Amino acid sequence: MTVNRPVALISGGSRGIGRAAVLRLAADGHDVSFCYHSQEEAAQTLAKEADLLGARVLYRRVDVSDPAAVRAWVAATEDELGPVAVAVTSAGITRDKGLVMMSDDDWRSVVSTNLDGVFHVCRAVAFPMMKRRGGSIVNISSVAGIYGNAGQTNYAASKAGIIGFSRSLAKEAGRYGIRVNVVAPGFVDTDMTSAVSASAVDGVLANVALGRMGTPEEVAELVAFLADDRASYITGSVFQIDGGISL
Ligand code: NAP
Repeated sequence: MTVNRPVALISGGSRGIGRAAVLRLAADGHDVSFCYHSQEEAAQTLAKEADLLGARVLYRRVDVSDPAAVRAWVAATEDELGPVAVAVTSAGITRDKGLVMMSDDDWRSVVSTNLDGVFHVCRAVAFPMMKRRGGSIVNISSVAGIYGNAGQTNYAASKAGIIGFSRSLAKEAGRYGIRVNVVAPGFVDTDMTSAVSASAVDGVLANVALGRMGTPEEVAELVAFLADDRASYITGSVFQIDGGISL
């Protein structure tokens, strides 16, 4: 008889922090469903890697800013893999500019991907989790959402929004046994930060107590801890993982 593993759903799983979370959760014994936006090849490669870790895998091309597409992905996940026990929202983009140069599209695309995307995923998974009286949600914010960052008013607003959203949902959903937490990374070595110039990287690292960038795997370790029962009494909390950038 096949015993199904708990199902983890990860938005923005194809690259970076989301990718590391997919692999970590698969290694920890979850079946995994992840979405990507455009990098199909990266998604295919990841699906094979997660399969080798023993996970059943579903992946879909989904724009998280589209509520119908997110609903369909969550429904397909529950149909094909089973009830979603863990949801991680990692899909995110940047469009950095000074405020006076920021176009409506720079603002809207970042807020609709980063914040609306979290709303869409959490709304889609929360009702079935409530009916089953359990689940764990981990939303990826950023230290920029706590402290702000020049040139990132759009991004910081979206990431601060995730914190208020998650704390509110934690209050709403706690009575149904659902935990909601936030991970706020500092400067992590992914495609998102690879566009930053060497001199700007040096400037940031000068303010990081540990003197280096974080790895996606280090962030995934925290995500995996919050996702499972080791964190059974933790909800509504924001965890900075930033090598001491905020000291
Ligand atoms: P990344 O390497 O650029 O990966 C971004 C992921 O999001 C990719 O899987 C991408 O899919 C997906 N994505 C982008 N737009 C999407 C959309 N509209 N719908 C669905 N998926 C979409 O970024 P990362 O560094 O891992 O960042 C992951 C999360 O951590 C983000 O929320 C980011 O804001 C946050 N974060 C990152 C850092 C850092 O230093 N890297 C620091 C703080 C917070 P495709 O592969 O198909 O493009």
